[in-house]
Amino acid sequence: MSPAEGAGPTIVWFRDDLRLADNPALHAAVERGLPIVAVYVLDEESPGVRPLGGASRWWLHGSLRALGDSLEALGGSLLLRRGPAADVIGALAASVGAGAVFWNRRYGAAEREVDTVIKTALHADGVEARSFAGSLLFEPWTIRTGQGNPYSVFTPFWRACVAGPPPREPYPAPMAIDGWPGAVPSDRLDDWGLLPTHPDWAAGLRAAWQPGEAVAAKALETFLRESLARYADERDAPAQAATSRLSPRLRWGEVSPFQVWHATQRVLRGADAATASSAQRFLTELGWREFSYHVLFHAPELATSNLKREFDRFPWPPLDDRVLNAWQQGRTGIPLVDAGMRELWQTGSMHNRVRMVTASFLTKNLLVDWRVGEQWFWDTLVDADGASNPFGWQWVAGSGADAAPYFRVFNPELQAARFDPHGEYIREYVPEIGTDAYPAPLVDLGETRRAALAAYEQVKAAK
Ligand code: FAD
Repeated sequence: MSPAEGAGPTIVWFRDDLRLADNPALHAAVERGLPIVAVYVLDEESPGVRPLGGASRWWLHGSLRALGDSLEALGGSLLLRRGPAADVIGALAASVGAGAVFWNRRYGAAEREVDTVIKTALHADGVEARSFAGSLLFEPWTIRTGQGNPYSVFTPFWRACVAGPPPREPYPAPMAIDGWPGAVPSDRLDDWGLLPTHPDWAAGLRAAWQPGEAVAAKALETFLRESLARYADERDAPAQAATSRLSPRLRWGEVSPFQVWHATQRVLRGADAATASSAQRFLTELGWREFSYHVLFHAPELATSNLKREFDRFPWPPLDDRVLNAWQQGRTGIPLVDAGMRELWQTGSMHNRVRMVTASFLTKNLLVDWRVGEQWFWDTLVDADGASNPFGWQWVAGSGADAAPYFRVFNPELQAARFDPHGEYIREYVPEIGTDAYPAPLVDLGETRRAALAAYEQVKAAK
């Protein structure tokens, strides 16, 4: 052990884990028994780390505010620093004479590279550096096929996950935090400019969401109590509010998948058959989140490259801004698509069924490269993450892991008839439907479907 180890305070570096409960890095820091310096680093400079989208920045602001308040209530505080994480963490460790730096893992390649560099540098300086599993139930490298390869198909992946030991129990939140008493300068959250001002487009986000761990815990509890029983039947109906809406909470780590898993298991014990099957279905959706990260870990270029390389030959026509704008603004004249795109713009979210429909419409009926749509979702979703977002887009586009077959072109009219039969969802976001104010369809669904299938012939020819 070097002189620093065992002596100096512990830095807890918060990242995608903006919570006190079930935070393994924080838990270990409290166990270590020395004062704690909690820090969040806004890193927009490390190579390859994707800058956050606008809606994500809005969420981050609120979640950091809540985390800072919770830490203060327990005797600690949250330090805010901006810059390349390697520089910031290194300088902070030196300035407080840290004995250890703890964090929970991230899974994107650029982030892992940053973390590895930092770990190596800290070790070289005699500072203990430890990473923990806090954001995924199953670490991506631990789940392997019989041949030792990563999985590319969901069902056997998830079967392998649940066949192993169950996810660990969540850690309780600390009762108190022994905050580092020294003076360390912190940025002011407001100075980071995470909230939109000119213009302030976030009114709809504020109306729809309140970031923070305490609200996240309530959301989980309310979902399990009030909606879980009907989840399996109604999860595909966008007007029903039958899903958990936990995705931004999981994205930012206001709640951990371990908490969600075990809270659901508690409901499962003694549940009637309908609730039990709903609970299984819900856990399977968490499994899709795990699978997205598994795929990202093994295919770091998920947001930029087709997983099925034959899709590199797809003949995307030149991008027509008029068409893209109509899609982004929800003015395509296709009601379910427009409702979804407006829900996204107004609330920072979109129902999963409608995400599939709007993505299919963009990539297949409008023949716009999935990466263009992925970038728009990245900028506008409060739950945008580097795994589920590109994974979802590649799944719809047909180029992804265990993807929908290309010829599955979602028909937005049939989807609306099936999943929004009374038009409640559409009317909520497209109130002018049926009047002259509503645009005529931008394209003919049948014709564009045929054109998409013809374009796909080139991909097939490349196989
Ligand atoms: P619930 O139905 O309550 O599911 C519980 C949790 O399971 C979710 O909170 C989420 O963490 C996870 N989950 C559910 N479905 C999926 C799925 N298909 N893939 C991965 N995880 C899933 N999800 C994101 O979290 N971030 C994204 O950026 C994202 N982008 C998407 C883009 C496209 C084109 C598509 C088709 C899907 C995308 N999804 C994304 C997946 C899914 O739409 C959302 O997770 C879901 O709508 C969130 O609502 P919920 O929390 O009420 O889900």
